[in-house]
Amino acid sequence: AAETNAIHAVGRRRHVLLFPLPYQGHINPMFRLAGLLHARGFAITVFHTHFNAPDPVRHPEYRFVPVPDGTSGPAPVAIEDVVTHILALTAGCEAPFRDRLAAVLEEYSSDTVACLIADAHLLPMVEAAKSLGVPTLALRTGSAACCACFIAYPMLFDKGYLPVKESRLDMAVSELPPYRVRDLIVLGDDNHGAVRELIARAVTAVKVSSGVILNTFEALERRELEGLRRDLAVPVFDVGPLHKFSPAGDSSLLRQDRSCLEWLDAWPPASVLYVSFGSIACMSPRDLEETAWGIAASGVPFVWVVRPGMVRGSARQELPEGFEAATRARGVVVAWAPQEEVLGHAAVGGFWTHNGWNSTTESVCEGVPMLCRPCFGDQMGNARYVEHVWRVGFEVGDELERGSVEAAIRRLMTDKDGAEMRARAGELKKAAEDCTGKGGSSYLAIDKLITHMMSLKN
Ligand code: UDP
Repeated sequence: AAETNAIHAVGRRRHVLLFPLPYQGHINPMFRLAGLLHARGFAITVFHTHFNAPDPVRHPEYRFVPVPDGTSGPAPVAIEDVVTHILALTAGCEAPFRDRLAAVLEEYSSDTVACLIADAHLLPMVEAAKSLGVPTLALRTGSAACCACFIAYPMLFDKGYLPVKESRLDMAVSELPPYRVRDLIVLGDDNHGAVRELIARAVTAVKVSSGVILNTFEALERRELEGLRRDLAVPVFDVGPLHKFSPAGDSSLLRQDRSCLEWLDAWPPASVLYVSFGSIACMSPRDLEETAWGIAASGVPFVWVVRPGMVRGSARQELPEGFEAATRARGVVVAWAPQEEVLGHAAVGGFWTHNGWNSTTESVCEGVPMLCRPCFGDQMGNARYVEHVWRVGFEVGDELERGSVEAAIRRLMTDKDGAEMRARAGELKKAAEDCTGKGGSSYLAIDKLITHMMSLKN
């Protein structure tokens, strides 16, 4: 971990208020940011929805303020439903948040509050805070390239890249290299309205705030960060990868099965494939079967996360009959893994991922090359960068078929090609260490962020 640097919150503005979007990929970076700011002397107050509420017992040093969100029932499964769920959740929270924020301000006295850091998807909370005189910063948990893509979304419609036409999938988006049409954030035709709304709100939340915090780092996205600094009037703080600055905050919504770490100890360096598709992405029963038999046929040792609810339309996550017997000696299946530690384990030599931004940066930071199977949202764009820009992985292809899965795993884990990607990933790991180390770009960006937070006027 990087050393903590000298700037600490002193004096009056010592409270920082946080509001994460209640999804795993958004909660983790926000809690890492909380850990970092707490270590620099800020008192942390976390506003949170009832949906996916954090466990206060795991963070006794923070204050938690629950905000009723007006939603009920289980978490949405289909990604289309996640978009509408976020819109409903933010609408439901707005008035209760305003009340709770007003009460907190009265209690703390407003001049002791530095700012609210809200996930950029929480525009109503940003507006409520501003109307009560609280300065805001927006946290974007995706890449800088994704942020630029959000800003460009209206242009993508104006120029006819969106809505996507099947015949144009491989067309280059010349305004946003290296994206092709297939790498853009798209959802089914019925959802353009909701997705456009979600994206437009996130851009507004960034623009009306006093700055945007990005979980990325200069060595990874220099050109994209320069573009954002040119296009946005607000300061851009590239403080990532946040998980390298702050101790594991234990913000996991599911219990992490740590037994796989011990299991990994028995394997030689870079020999094991880690397979996980994050907290939301789902697969069909057929894809699960092809994945399973492809893994089995590759002969490569593996740790595979088969999350509850990961297989569409099936309550039980049943692996194909005979799979366990065929792979018992060289594989483990867990419901949820301590992912950062797994990726950091010397035995892990490849990551088959859906390319959520957290998973992508966690892999890069451990020098682990990737087999990419992006599913939705920014994941296609992230996979494009992995394959085409950083050249630390490649896409497994749209159609999962056991033969091609087997070949892809071998290419990553045992071929010269994969070894070259591993070597390049090792260089990125080193670049990430330089950015987070003393005097590195992210290290300095954190100092700038704190100085900025202390100077904000309400
Ligand atoms: N994660 C984990 N255990 C797992 C799978 C994922 O702790 O078995 C964590 C992972 O380290 C990452 C987050 O969950 O921080 C997933 O975020 P990401 O942006 O990669 O994908 P999302 O879940 O948002 O699609």
